[in-house]
Amino acid sequence: MPAHLRDDLDILDPAVLTDVVAGELRVSPRQAMRLYHEMAIQELGRWADARTRHLHGDRIRTYVIDRNINYTNVCTAKCTFCAFRRDGHEDDAYTLDEDQVLEKIAELAGIGGTQILMQGGMNRDLPLSWYLDLLNSIKESFPDIHVHAFSPPEFIEFVEFFDPPGGTLEARLRSVMRQMQAAGLDSIPGGGGEIFAPAVRRKIGLGKCDAQAWLTTMRVAHELGMNTSATMMFGHIEGIADRIHHFELIRQWQDRSIADFSAAGGGRYKAFISWPFQRENTPLGRCREWGQGPDQDPGDDFPGDVVARLDGTGLKSAHADFGRYVRMAGAAEYLRTQALSRLYLDNVYSIGASWVTMGPSIGQVGLHYGANDMGSVMMEENVVSAAGTTHCLNEPMLCRLIRDAGFLPAQRDNEYNLLRLHAFDDAPDLSVTDWSTVRAQRLHIEGAGPQEQPVPTVEITTERATVSY
Ligand code: SF4
Repeated sequence: MPAHLRDDLDILDPAVLTDVVAGELRVSPRQAMRLYHEMAIQELGRWADARTRHLHGDRIRTYVIDRNINYTNVCTAKCTFCAFRRDGHEDDAYTLDEDQVLEKIAELAGIGGTQILMQGGMNRDLPLSWYLDLLNSIKESFPDIHVHAFSPPEFIEFVEFFDPPGGTLEARLRSVMRQMQAAGLDSIPGGGGEIFAPAVRRKIGLGKCDAQAWLTTMRVAHELGMNTSATMMFGHIEGIADRIHHFELIRQWQDRSIADFSAAGGGRYKAFISWPFQRENTPLGRCREWGQGPDQDPGDDFPGDVVARLDGTGLKSAHADFGRYVRMAGAAEYLRTQALSRLYLDNVYSIGASWVTMGPSIGQVGLHYGANDMGSVMMEENVVSAAGTTHCLNEPMLCRLIRDAGFLPAQRDNEYNLLRLHAFDDAPDLSVTDWSTVRAQRLHIEGAGPQEQPVPTVEITTERATVSY
Protein backbone atom coordinates (compact mmCIF):
# COMPACT_ATOMS: atom_id res chain seq x y z
CA MET A 1 0.00 0.00 0.00
CA PRO A 2 1.70 3.27 -1.08
CA ALA A 3 2.17 5.92 1.57
CA HIS A 4 -0.06 8.99 1.65
CA LEU A 5 0.75 12.13 -0.27
CA ARG A 6 0.17 15.36 1.68
CA ASP A 7 1.32 18.26 -0.44
CA ASP A 8 0.07 20.75 2.17
CA LEU A 9 2.64 19.66 4.77
CA ASP A 10 5.92 21.49 5.34
CA ILE A 11 8.47 19.00 4.03
CA LEU A 12 11.30 20.77 5.86
CA ASP A 13 9.66 19.96 9.18
CA PRO A 14 11.59 17.09 10.84
CA ALA A 15 8.33 15.50 12.00
CA VAL A 16 7.13 15.33 8.40
CA LEU A 17 10.42 13.90 7.20
CA THR A 18 10.33 11.34 9.98
CA ASP A 19 7.12 10.04 8.44
CA VAL A 20 8.78 9.95 5.01
CA VAL A 21 11.63 7.90 6.47
CA ALA A 22 9.14 5.50 8.03
CA GLY A 23 7.41 5.03 4.68
CA GLU A 24 4.17 6.54 5.93
CA LEU A 25 4.30 9.69 3.85
CA ARG A 26 5.13 10.24 0.22
CA VAL A 27 7.13 13.24 -1.06
CA SER A 28 5.15 15.29 -3.61
CA PRO A 29 6.79 16.94 -6.65
CA ARG A 30 6.46 20.39 -5.11
CA GLN A 31 7.92 19.17 -1.82
CA ALA A 32 10.80 17.57 -3.69
CA MET A 33 11.61 20.93 -5.27
CA ARG A 34 11.76 22.45 -1.80
CA LEU A 35 14.03 19.69 -0.52
CA TYR A 36 16.34 20.14 -3.46
CA HIS A 37 16.58 23.90 -3.26
CA GLU A 38 16.11 24.70 0.42
CA MET A 39 17.68 21.92 2.46
CA ALA A 40 21.41 21.89 3.20
CA ILE A 41 23.11 19.03 1.40
CA GLN A 42 24.33 17.27 4.54
CA GLU A 43 20.80 17.44 5.98
CA LEU A 44 19.31 15.99 2.83
CA GLY A 45 21.93 13.26 2.97
CA ARG A 46 21.12 12.56 6.60
CA TRP A 47 17.42 12.05 5.86
CA ALA A 48 18.16 9.93 2.79
CA ASP A 49 20.55 7.84 4.90
CA ALA A 50 17.88 7.42 7.56
CA ARG A 51 15.49 6.12 4.90
CA THR A 52 18.16 3.73 3.61
CA ARG A 53 18.79 2.43 7.13
CA HIS A 54 15.03 1.98 7.62
CA LEU A 55 14.92 -0.25 4.52
CA HIS A 56 18.31 -1.95 4.58
CA GLY A 57 19.48 -1.78 8.19
CA ASP A 58 22.63 -0.20 9.60
CA ARG A 59 25.12 -2.94 8.93
CA ILE A 60 25.38 -4.30 5.40
CA ARG A 61 25.91 -2.64 2.03
CA THR A 62 26.14 -4.69 -1.12
CA TYR A 63 27.82 -5.13 -4.49
CA VAL A 64 27.44 -7.57 -7.35
CA ILE A 65 30.07 -9.20 -9.56
CA ASP A 66 28.91 -8.83 -13.12
CA ARG A 67 30.36 -7.87 -16.44
CA ASN A 68 29.21 -5.28 -18.91
CA ILE A 69 29.11 -6.77 -22.36
CA ASN A 70 28.41 -4.27 -25.11
CA TYR A 71 27.71 -6.65 -27.95
CA THR A 72 27.71 -4.05 -30.72
CA ASN A 73 28.44 -0.35 -31.07
CA VAL A 74 26.56 -0.06 -34.36
CA CYS A 75 23.46 2.00 -33.69
CA THR A 76 20.62 3.60 -35.63
CA ALA A 77 20.13 6.29 -32.97
CA LYS A 78 22.26 9.41 -32.65
CA CYS A 79 22.05 10.44 -29.03
CA THR A 80 23.98 13.66 -28.61
CA PHE A 81 25.50 12.52 -25.31
CA CYS A 82 26.92 9.32 -26.80
CA ALA A 83 30.56 8.76 -27.74
CA PHE A 84 30.11 5.00 -28.14
CA ARG A 85 27.92 4.60 -31.23
CA ARG A 86 29.13 3.98 -34.77
CA ASP A 87 27.24 3.94 -38.09
CA GLY A 88 28.71 0.57 -39.03
CA HIS A 89 31.24 1.44 -41.75
CA GLU A 90 33.98 2.77 -39.45
CA ASP A 91 37.13 0.80 -38.68
CA ASP A 92 36.21 0.51 -35.02
CA ALA A 93 32.57 -0.49 -35.57
CA TYR A 94 32.10 -3.96 -34.12
CA THR A 95 29.65 -6.73 -33.30
CA LEU A 96 30.85 -9.48 -31.01
CA ASP A 97 30.34 -13.04 -32.12
CA GLU A 98 28.99 -15.79 -29.91
CA ASP A 99 32.43 -17.16 -29.02
CA GLN A 100 33.64 -13.73 -27.91
CA VAL A 101 30.62 -13.27 -25.66
CA LEU A 102 31.04 -16.74 -24.17
CA GLU A 103 34.74 -16.12 -23.55
CA LYS A 104 33.91 -12.96 -21.61
CA ILE A 105 31.37 -14.83 -19.50
CA ALA A 106 33.92 -17.57 -18.80
CA GLU A 107 36.28 -14.89 -17.47
CA LEU A 108 33.50 -13.51 -15.33
CA ALA A 109 32.64 -16.94 -13.95
CA GLY A 110 36.32 -17.35 -13.12
CA ILE A 111 36.22 -14.51 -10.62
CA GLY A 112 32.97 -15.59 -8.99
CA GLY A 113 30.69 -13.41 -11.12
CA THR A 114 26.98 -14.06 -11.13
CA GLN A 115 25.49 -11.95 -13.92
CA ILE A 116 26.11 -10.18 -17.19
CA LEU A 117 24.77 -6.78 -18.12
CA MET A 118 24.51 -7.00 -21.89
CA GLN A 119 23.48 -3.96 -23.89
CA GLY A 120 24.41 -2.60 -27.25
CA GLY A 121 23.62 -0.19 -29.98
CA MET A 122 20.45 -0.65 -32.01
CA ASN A 123 21.87 -2.63 -34.90
CA ARG A 124 19.38 -3.38 -37.66
CA ASP A 125 21.70 -5.98 -39.25
CA LEU A 126 21.12 -8.43 -36.41
CA PRO A 127 18.03 -10.64 -36.83
CA LEU A 128 15.94 -11.98 -33.95
CA SER A 129 17.56 -15.39 -34.42
CA TRP A 130 20.97 -13.84 -33.61
CA TYR A 131 19.69 -12.79 -30.18
CA LEU A 132 17.86 -16.05 -29.51
CA ASP A 133 20.85 -18.17 -30.52
CA LEU A 134 23.12 -16.07 -28.32
CA LEU A 135 20.82 -16.33 -25.30
CA ASN A 136 20.42 -20.08 -25.79
CA SER A 137 24.18 -20.55 -26.00
CA ILE A 138 24.78 -18.48 -22.89
CA LYS A 139 22.27 -20.48 -20.87
CA GLU A 140 23.58 -23.77 -22.23
CA SER A 141 27.17 -22.93 -21.27
CA PHE A 142 26.49 -20.92 -18.12
CA PRO A 143 23.11 -21.92 -16.66
CA ASP A 144 23.85 -20.13 -13.38
CA ILE A 145 24.77 -16.77 -14.88
CA HIS A 146 21.92 -14.27 -14.66
CA VAL A 147 21.33 -12.51 -17.98
CA HIS A 148 20.37 -8.87 -17.40
CA ALA A 149 20.12 -7.60 -20.95
CA PHE A 150 18.64 -5.33 -23.60
CA SER A 151 17.34 -1.97 -22.44
CA PRO A 152 13.95 -0.51 -23.49
CA PRO A 153 15.31 1.46 -26.47
CA GLU A 154 16.74 -1.79 -27.84
CA PHE A 155 13.39 -3.53 -27.36
CA ILE A 156 11.56 -0.74 -29.11
CA GLU A 157 13.91 -1.14 -32.07
CA PHE A 158 13.51 -4.94 -31.95
CA VAL A 159 9.80 -4.37 -32.48
CA GLU A 160 10.62 -2.12 -35.41
CA PHE A 161 13.24 -4.44 -36.94
CA PHE A 162 11.56 -7.82 -36.37
CA ASP A 163 7.93 -6.80 -36.99
CA PRO A 164 6.43 -9.25 -34.48
CA PRO A 165 2.67 -9.98 -34.52
CA GLY A 166 0.30 -7.87 -32.42
CA GLY A 167 -2.02 -4.92 -32.77
CA THR A 168 -0.51 -2.80 -30.00
CA LEU A 169 3.00 -1.91 -28.86
CA GLU A 170 2.43 -4.00 -25.72
CA ALA A 171 1.44 -7.07 -27.74
CA ARG A 172 4.42 -6.70 -30.07
CA LEU A 173 6.80 -6.23 -27.15
CA ARG A 174 5.29 -9.22 -25.40
CA SER A 175 5.90 -11.38 -28.45
CA VAL A 176 9.62 -10.51 -28.69
CA MET A 177 10.18 -10.52 -24.95
CA ARG A 178 8.57 -13.93 -24.45
CA GLN A 179 10.86 -15.48 -27.04
CA MET A 180 13.91 -13.92 -25.43
CA GLN A 181 12.77 -14.93 -21.99
CA ALA A 182 12.32 -18.51 -23.16
CA ALA A 183 15.84 -18.40 -24.63
CA GLY A 184 17.38 -17.23 -21.37
CA LEU A 185 16.74 -13.54 -20.72
CA ASP A 186 16.27 -13.07 -16.96
CA SER A 187 15.78 -9.35 -16.39
CA ILE A 188 16.00 -6.00 -18.13
CA PRO A 189 18.38 -3.13 -17.38
CA GLY A 190 17.14 0.45 -17.23
CA GLY A 191 19.44 1.90 -19.88
CA GLY A 192 18.16 4.72 -22.04
CA GLY A 193 16.10 6.35 -19.29
CA GLU A 194 18.08 9.63 -19.55
CA ILE A 195 15.45 12.29 -18.79
CA PHE A 196 11.81 11.53 -19.59
CA ALA A 197 10.51 15.06 -20.16
CA PRO A 198 9.82 15.35 -23.92
CA ALA A 199 11.48 18.76 -24.43
CA VAL A 200 14.78 17.41 -23.08
CA ARG A 201 14.52 13.92 -24.52
CA ARG A 202 13.88 15.14 -28.06
CA LYS A 203 17.01 17.29 -27.89
CA ILE A 204 19.43 14.70 -26.52
CA GLY A 205 18.11 11.30 -27.58
CA LEU A 206 17.85 11.55 -31.35
CA GLY A 207 16.21 8.40 -32.66
CA LYS A 208 15.66 6.93 -29.23
CA CYS A 209 12.25 5.89 -27.89
CA ASP A 210 10.12 8.34 -25.91
CA ALA A 211 9.24 7.99 -22.23
CA GLN A 212 5.89 6.31 -22.88
CA ALA A 213 7.57 3.58 -24.95
CA TRP A 214 10.37 3.17 -22.38
CA LEU A 215 7.94 2.80 -19.50
CA THR A 216 5.63 0.54 -21.51
CA THR A 217 8.54 -1.79 -22.26
CA MET A 218 9.29 -2.11 -18.58
CA ARG A 219 5.64 -2.67 -17.77
CA VAL A 220 5.49 -5.59 -20.20
CA ALA A 221 8.65 -7.01 -18.62
CA HIS A 222 7.02 -6.74 -15.18
CA GLU A 223 3.88 -8.42 -16.51
CA LEU A 224 6.04 -11.31 -17.77
CA GLY A 225 7.62 -11.73 -14.34
CA MET A 226 10.93 -10.00 -14.99
CA ASN A 227 12.48 -7.43 -12.70
CA THR A 228 14.04 -4.34 -14.18
CA SER A 229 16.05 -1.35 -13.06
CA ALA A 230 15.52 2.33 -13.79
CA THR A 231 18.09 5.00 -14.55
CA MET A 232 18.47 8.72 -15.00
CA MET A 233 21.29 10.62 -16.66
CA PHE A 234 21.30 14.23 -15.52
CA GLY A 235 23.52 17.28 -15.44
CA HIS A 236 23.13 18.49 -19.02
CA ILE A 237 20.34 20.64 -20.48
CA GLU A 238 17.54 19.62 -18.10
CA GLY A 239 16.02 21.58 -15.25
CA ILE A 240 15.70 20.33 -11.68
CA ALA A 241 11.92 19.95 -12.19
CA ASP A 242 12.69 17.52 -15.03
CA ARG A 243 14.57 15.25 -12.63
CA ILE A 244 11.64 15.23 -10.24
CA HIS A 245 9.20 14.55 -13.05
CA HIS A 246 11.45 11.60 -13.99
CA PHE A 247 11.24 10.24 -10.43
CA GLU A 248 7.49 10.76 -10.45
CA LEU A 249 6.94 8.67 -13.60
CA ILE A 250 9.03 5.81 -12.22
CA ARG A 251 7.12 5.91 -8.94
CA GLN A 252 3.73 6.01 -10.68
CA TRP A 253 4.49 3.16 -13.08
CA GLN A 254 6.02 1.13 -10.25
CA ASP A 255 2.77 1.53 -8.28
CA ARG A 256 0.85 0.25 -11.30
CA SER A 257 3.13 -2.74 -11.85
CA ILE A 258 2.95 -3.74 -8.20
CA ALA A 259 -0.84 -3.35 -8.11
CA ASP A 260 -1.45 -5.18 -11.39
CA PHE A 261 1.17 -7.94 -11.44
CA SER A 262 2.64 -8.64 -8.02
CA ALA A 263 -0.02 -11.09 -6.89
CA ALA A 264 0.61 -13.19 -9.99
CA GLY A 265 4.40 -13.22 -9.58
CA GLY A 266 5.11 -10.17 -11.70
CA GLY A 267 8.30 -8.14 -11.68
CA ARG A 268 9.03 -4.56 -10.71
CA TYR A 269 11.70 -1.89 -10.69
CA LYS A 270 14.17 -3.39 -8.28
CA ALA A 271 16.76 -0.63 -8.42
CA PHE A 272 17.35 2.95 -9.45
CA ILE A 273 20.68 4.47 -10.37
CA SER A 274 21.39 7.99 -11.55
CA TRP A 275 24.60 9.47 -12.86
CA PRO A 276 25.83 12.76 -14.24
CA PHE A 277 26.38 13.18 -17.97
CA GLN A 278 30.00 12.64 -19.09
CA ARG A 279 30.89 15.09 -21.83
CA GLU A 280 34.17 13.99 -23.51
CA ASN A 281 33.89 13.09 -27.21
CA THR A 282 30.14 13.76 -27.33
CA PRO A 283 28.24 16.29 -29.45
CA LEU A 284 26.29 17.44 -26.37
CA GLY A 285 29.56 17.95 -24.53
CA ARG A 286 30.51 20.65 -27.03
CA CYS A 287 27.74 22.88 -25.65
CA ARG A 288 29.09 25.65 -23.48
CA GLU A 289 28.84 25.46 -19.73
CA TRP A 290 26.11 27.74 -18.42
CA GLY A 291 27.26 30.77 -16.46
CA GLN A 292 30.77 30.91 -17.87
CA GLY A 293 30.19 33.22 -20.84
CA PRO A 294 31.21 36.89 -20.52
CA ASP A 295 27.65 37.97 -21.34
CA GLN A 296 26.06 35.82 -18.62
CA ASP A 297 25.22 36.91 -15.15
CA PRO A 298 25.82 34.04 -12.69
CA GLY A 299 22.40 34.85 -11.25
CA ASP A 300 20.60 34.21 -14.56
CA ASP A 301 18.18 31.30 -14.56
CA PHE A 302 19.49 28.22 -16.35
CA PRO A 303 17.42 27.70 -19.54
CA GLY A 304 16.57 24.14 -18.52
CA ASP A 305 15.00 25.44 -15.30
CA VAL A 306 12.97 28.02 -17.21
CA VAL A 307 11.62 25.33 -19.56
CA ALA A 308 11.11 22.48 -17.06
CA ARG A 309 7.71 21.76 -15.52
CA LEU A 310 6.99 19.27 -12.76
CA ASP A 311 4.36 17.60 -14.94
CA GLY A 312 6.76 17.24 -17.88
CA THR A 313 4.93 19.72 -20.11
CA GLY A 314 7.81 22.19 -20.51
CA LEU A 315 8.20 23.68 -23.98
CA LYS A 316 11.57 24.41 -25.51
CA SER A 317 10.16 27.71 -26.80
CA ALA A 318 10.14 29.01 -23.21
CA HIS A 319 13.82 29.97 -23.49
CA ALA A 320 15.75 30.86 -26.63
CA ASP A 321 18.94 29.23 -25.27
CA PHE A 322 17.36 25.95 -24.20
CA GLY A 323 19.56 23.06 -25.35
CA ARG A 324 22.49 25.33 -26.20
CA TYR A 325 24.14 25.23 -22.79
CA VAL A 326 24.83 22.47 -20.32
CA ARG A 327 24.93 22.63 -16.55
CA MET A 328 27.36 19.89 -15.60
CA ALA A 329 26.79 18.20 -12.25
CA GLY A 330 29.69 17.88 -9.83
CA ALA A 331 29.92 15.73 -6.74
CA ALA A 332 27.63 17.85 -4.56
CA GLU A 333 24.88 17.94 -7.16
CA TYR A 334 25.20 14.22 -7.75
CA LEU A 335 24.87 13.49 -4.03
CA ARG A 336 21.94 15.87 -3.67
CA THR A 337 20.12 14.28 -6.59
CA GLN A 338 20.78 10.75 -5.38
CA ALA A 339 19.61 11.61 -1.85
CA LEU A 340 16.41 13.06 -3.26
CA SER A 341 15.83 9.94 -5.36
CA ARG A 342 16.00 7.80 -2.20
CA LEU A 343 13.37 9.89 -0.45
CA TYR A 344 11.13 10.20 -3.51
CA LEU A 345 11.24 6.63 -4.84
CA ASP A 346 9.61 5.08 -1.79
CA ASN A 347 8.57 1.99 -3.76
CA VAL A 348 11.99 1.13 -5.22
CA TYR A 349 14.10 -1.21 -3.10
CA SER A 350 17.65 -0.36 -4.08
CA ILE A 351 19.45 2.88 -4.88
CA GLY A 352 22.84 2.32 -6.47
CA ALA A 353 25.85 4.58 -6.03
CA SER A 354 27.41 5.69 -9.28
CA TRP A 355 31.12 5.30 -8.71
CA VAL A 356 31.75 4.47 -12.37
CA THR A 357 31.12 8.05 -13.37
CA MET A 358 31.79 9.86 -10.09
CA GLY A 359 34.88 7.96 -8.99
CA PRO A 360 35.28 5.51 -6.10
CA SER A 361 35.50 8.08 -3.31
CA ILE A 362 32.32 9.89 -4.25
CA GLY A 363 30.60 6.55 -4.79
CA GLN A 364 31.66 5.63 -1.28
CA VAL A 365 30.25 8.88 0.14
CA GLY A 366 27.09 8.04 -1.80
CA LEU A 367 26.54 5.20 0.68
CA HIS A 368 25.71 7.94 3.18
CA TYR A 369 23.50 9.81 0.70
CA GLY A 370 20.80 7.24 0.10
CA ALA A 371 22.61 4.43 -1.71
CA ASN A 372 22.61 0.89 -0.33
CA ASP A 373 24.53 -0.70 -3.16
CA MET A 374 27.89 -0.08 -4.82
CA GLY A 375 26.93 -1.74 -8.08
CA SER A 376 29.41 -3.98 -9.76
CA VAL A 377 33.02 -4.87 -9.93
CA MET A 378 33.99 -3.32 -13.25
CA MET A 379 35.81 -5.68 -15.60
CA GLU A 380 34.79 -3.95 -18.77
CA GLU A 381 32.97 -0.81 -19.76
CA ASN A 382 32.68 0.70 -23.21
CA VAL A 383 29.97 3.33 -23.09
CA VAL A 384 30.87 5.91 -20.44
CA SER A 385 34.56 5.15 -20.95
CA ALA A 386 34.08 6.38 -24.53
CA ALA A 387 32.92 9.65 -22.97
CA GLY A 388 36.06 10.01 -20.93
CA THR A 389 35.38 8.11 -17.71
CA THR A 390 37.56 5.10 -16.97
CA HIS A 391 37.21 4.28 -13.30
CA CYS A 392 37.74 0.59 -12.59
CA LEU A 393 37.38 -1.39 -9.36
CA ASN A 394 37.90 -5.01 -8.51
CA GLU A 395 36.33 -6.95 -5.66
CA PRO A 396 38.89 -6.21 -2.92
CA MET A 397 38.75 -2.49 -3.65
CA LEU A 398 34.96 -2.45 -3.74
CA CYS A 399 34.82 -4.28 -0.40
CA ARG A 400 37.36 -1.92 1.11
CA LEU A 401 35.35 1.13 0.02
CA ILE A 402 32.22 -0.27 1.62
CA ARG A 403 34.04 -1.24 4.82
CA ASP A 404 35.82 2.12 5.07
CA ALA A 405 32.41 3.80 4.77
CA GLY A 406 31.40 1.99 7.96
CA PHE A 407 29.53 -1.02 6.60
CA LEU A 408 30.01 -4.73 6.15
CA PRO A 409 30.45 -5.57 2.46
CA ALA A 410 28.33 -8.37 1.03
CA GLN A 411 28.17 -9.84 -2.45
CA ARG A 412 24.59 -10.03 -3.74
CA ASP A 413 22.84 -11.48 -6.75
CA ASN A 414 20.46 -9.73 -9.15
CA GLU A 415 17.54 -10.30 -6.76
CA TYR A 416 19.52 -8.69 -3.91
CA ASN A 417 19.89 -11.98 -2.08
CA LEU A 418 23.10 -11.96 -0.05
CA LEU A 419 25.61 -14.51 -1.36
CA ARG A 420 28.67 -13.86 0.78
CA LEU A 421 28.99 -11.68 3.84
CA HIS A 422 32.56 -10.50 4.33
CA ALA A 423 32.91 -10.37 8.10
CA PHE A 424 36.13 -12.31 8.60
CA ASP A 425 39.82 -12.19 7.76
CA ASP A 426 39.39 -14.12 4.53
CA ALA A 427 37.28 -11.28 3.08
CA PRO A 428 38.47 -10.07 -0.36
CA ASP A 429 39.79 -6.80 1.10
CA LEU A 430 41.03 -8.07 4.47
CA SER A 431 43.12 -10.78 2.84
CA VAL A 432 45.05 -8.34 0.66
CA THR A 433 48.62 -7.98 1.87
CA ASP A 434 49.92 -5.68 -0.86
CA TRP A 435 47.43 -3.12 -2.19
CA SER A 436 49.82 -2.03 -4.94
CA THR A 437 48.91 -5.26 -6.79
CA VAL A 438 45.22 -4.48 -6.90
CA ARG A 439 45.14 -0.72 -7.42
CA ALA A 440 44.94 1.37 -10.56
CA GLN A 441 44.00 -1.26 -13.06
CA ARG A 442 42.68 -0.31 -16.46
CA LEU A 443 39.38 -1.29 -17.95
CA HIS A 444 39.05 -3.61 -20.89
CA ILE A 445 37.68 -1.44 -23.69
CA GLU A 446 36.12 -3.19 -26.66
CA GLY A 447 37.64 -2.60 -30.06
CA ALA A 448 40.61 -0.60 -28.78
CA GLY A 449 43.72 -1.65 -30.64
CA PRO A 450 47.23 -1.67 -29.20
CA GLN A 451 47.76 1.97 -30.16
CA GLU A 452 44.60 3.19 -28.52
CA GLN A 453 44.78 1.08 -25.40
CA PRO A 454 48.02 1.75 -23.58
CA VAL A 455 47.65 -1.03 -21.02
CA PRO A 456 46.02 -3.88 -22.93
CA THR A 457 46.31 -6.59 -20.32
CA VAL A 458 44.97 -6.42 -16.82
CA GLU A 459 45.47 -8.87 -14.06
CA ILE A 460 42.94 -9.00 -11.29
CA THR A 461 43.61 -11.13 -8.27
CA THR A 462 40.85 -12.25 -5.96
CA GLU A 463 40.73 -14.93 -3.34
CA ARG A 464 39.09 -17.22 -5.87
CA ALA A 465 41.11 -16.86 -9.01
CA THR A 466 43.57 -14.87 -11.04
CA VAL A 467 42.21 -13.78 -14.36
CA SER A 468 43.96 -11.96 -17.16
CA TYR A 469 41.90 -10.11 -19.72
S1 SF4 B 1 23.26 5.99 -26.21
FE1 SF4 B 1 22.71 3.95 -27.00
S2 SF4 B 1 20.95 4.35 -28.33
FE2 SF4 B 1 21.96 6.34 -28.05
S3 SF4 B 1 23.40 6.48 -29.79
FE3 SF4 B 1 24.54 5.59 -28.05
S4 SF4 B 1 24.42 3.39 -28.40
FE4 SF4 B 1 22.80 4.33 -29.63
